[in-house]
Amino acid sequence: MSTEQTTTTTNFLRTIVSDDLASGKHQSVVTRFPPEPNGYLHIGHAKSIFLNFGLARDFGGRCHLRFDDTNPVKEEAEYIESIKESVRWLGFNWGEHLYHASEYFEQLYQWAEHLIRQGKAYVDDLSPEQIKEYRGTLTEPGKESPFRNRSFEENLDQFQRMRAGEFPDGAKVLRAKIDMASPNMNLRDPVMYRILHAVHPHVGDTWCIYPMYDFTHGQSDAIEGITHSICTLEFESHRPLYEWFLENLPVPAKPRQYEFARLNLSYTVMSKRKLQELVNTDLVNGWDDPRMPTIMGLKRRGFTSAAIRTFCERIGVGRSDAWIGYELLEECVRNDLNENAIRAMAVLHPVKLVIDNYEEDKTEFFEVANHPVKHELGTRKILFSREVMIDADDFMEHPSKGFHRLTVGGEVKLKYAFVIKCTGMVKDEHGRIIELHADYDPGSTNGPVTSDGRKIKGVIHWVSASDAATVEVRLFDRLFSDPNPDRGGADYRQFLNPESLKTLLNCRVEPALLDAVPGQSFQFERLGYFCADEKDSQPGKPVFNRVVTLRDTWGAKN
Ligand code: ATP
Ligand code: MG
Repeated sequence: MSTEQTTTTTNFLRTIVSDDLASGKHQSVVTRFPPEPNGYLHIGHAKSIFLNFGLARDFGGRCHLRFDDTNPVKEEAEYIESIKESVRWLGFNWGEHLYHASEYFEQLYQWAEHLIRQGKAYVDDLSPEQIKEYRGTLTEPGKESPFRNRSFEENLDQFQRMRAGEFPDGAKVLRAKIDMASPNMNLRDPVMYRILHAVHPHVGDTWCIYPMYDFTHGQSDAIEGITHSICTLEFESHRPLYEWFLENLPVPAKPRQYEFARLNLSYTVMSKRKLQELVNTDLVNGWDDPRMPTIMGLKRRGFTSAAIRTFCERIGVGRSDAWIGYELLEECVRNDLNENAIRAMAVLHPVKLVIDNYEEDKTEFFEVANHPVKHELGTRKILFSREVMIDADDFMEHPSKGFHRLTVGGEVKLKYAFVIKCTGMVKDEHGRIIELHADYDPGSTNGPVTSDGRKIKGVIHWVSASDAATVEVRLFDRLFSDPNPDRGGADYRQFLNPESLKTLLNCRVEPALLDAVPGQSFQFERLGYFCADEKDSQPGKPVFNRVVTLRDTWGAKN
C-alpha cells in the first residue's frame, strides 16, 4: 500500500485516514461517491469527488461509485450516463466498483423484517399528513402512533402484504420504533419504507415498496465495506439514526461517518431541484448549458478538469460552512488556459480599416509565437494586407481621457505588424462608422515604436480582411447577477442575469481557427479565453464559447 500523496494540500479527513492506517484500525481505505441519479453533477459534487476519489488514490485504497437510487420516480438513465462521464472527465476511475443501492433492495428488505421481528419496526397506517403532525416540533415531543404497538406477527404480515402490492401508494409505511420524544427529530420513528407503485430504472417492476434514503445509505456503506463514509454537514444529525440501524442489524461492518462543509459558490444555485427547474422552463439550454454550474456545463464552456482540480484544492475541506467567490473558479481556469492555450487574433465587432498608403495588391506575412513563453507551442504566419478588421471598441471618435487606442489623427500599433495613423472615417446614413482610413509606418515592425523612435501607447489586435474567417461567438457571463440568488424567501429566478448570453454572429478570426477541434481552447488576444463548443461546432464551422475574460499575467510580465 502506498501512502504517497499526490494532493498538495492536507485536511482533517486526510489526517483521520492517515492515522487509521498507521494505527492499523484499517488495512486500506475504502470510500465512495454516492450520487442520487436525479440530475447532472455540479461543481459541489466535484468537491466530494476529489475528496473521496483523492483519498483512495493517495492512500492506495479504492473508491466506489454508487448510485443512491432509492427514489424510482425522479431518476433517469440519462443522469446515470452523465454522472459517469463527469467522474471520468475529472480523472477518476471506479474500476469494477460500480454499485447501485437498488441492488441491495432484497437485503434491505430482509433487514427490515429482522427489525420487525425484534420489535423495532412497525407498519403504520397513519396518513403522511398525520405522521407529520404526530412528529412534534423542535420544542415539543412527538406523539406515538396508535399503530405503534402492533404485534410483530401483525407487522410482519402487513409488511409482506405491502411488498405483495396489496395496498395503494401512501396507504401505509414501515417505521423504525425508536423514540417519539427524542430531541433529534430524525430518531422520532423515522419512515423506513413507503409504497410506490413505480417502475425503477435499474430494477424494473420488481418492487412496489421502496426503502427511504436513511434506511439505505448507511447499510449500503456497510455492505460495501466502506471504511470512511464521508458526507456533507447536513447529515450530521442523521448520523445517530445510521448508527442505530447499524447497531440493530446483523451488518457485516460498521462504517463511521464523517461530515465536511459543502461547497457554496456565489452567483449560482446548486440545488438539483432548482437546476432541474432552469432546464425544464427553458431558462437555460439544457443541463450542459455553458452557464450552468454542472460539470458538463463547465466542460462545455471550456473549463478544464485541471482547473477544477486546482479549485477544489484551493478551497480545501473543512467543517465550517463558507462561501466561495465565483472569481476563484474563474481565476483557476484563467491560470490554466493562460499557461496552455494557444494565442490567436479575433475581432468580435469588426470595423474595416483601409491602409491607404499600403499597395493595393500587396500582402505579407508576419511570423508570430503561438504562446508568449511556451516556445514549444510553435509559431504561425499571419497575413497582412491593405484592408484589416479591428474591433469597434478600439476606435473612439471623441476619445475619453486616458483612451490610448485609435482616434482620427491618432496612432496605434497593430499588434505584430505596423504602427498606423488614422486619417479619417466614413459613416453610413445613420451616422454609424463603417470604415476607417489610415496610413502605415513601414519601419515600425519592431515593437510599438515608430520609425523615428517614438513609443506608441496603444496596441490593438486585428485580422486581415482578405483572409479572415467569419464565425459565431457566444459571450457568456454569470448566470445570476446577485451573489446569493438562493437566499431565503426570494425566488432565485428573479436574479437571473439577462446578459448571461450574447451571441455574435459576425466575428472575424484568423482562418486557421476554422480547423479548431471541438473542445479546443484559445486565448483571443486582448479579449479572453474561448473554446470551440463541443456540441454546436461543425467540421470547418466552429462556434466559440467565451470561457472567461482576460487578465493576462503572461502579458503583464512581457
Ligand atoms: P440535492 O440537490 O438533490 O439535495 P445532493 O446535492 O445532496 O442533491 P447527491 O446526489 O445526494 O446530491 O450528492 C452526492 C454526494 O455529493 C453526496 O455525498 C453529497 O454530500 C455531495 N455533495 C452534494 N452537494 C455538494 C456540495 N455543494 N459540496 C460538496 N459536496 C456535495
Ligand atoms: Mg442528497
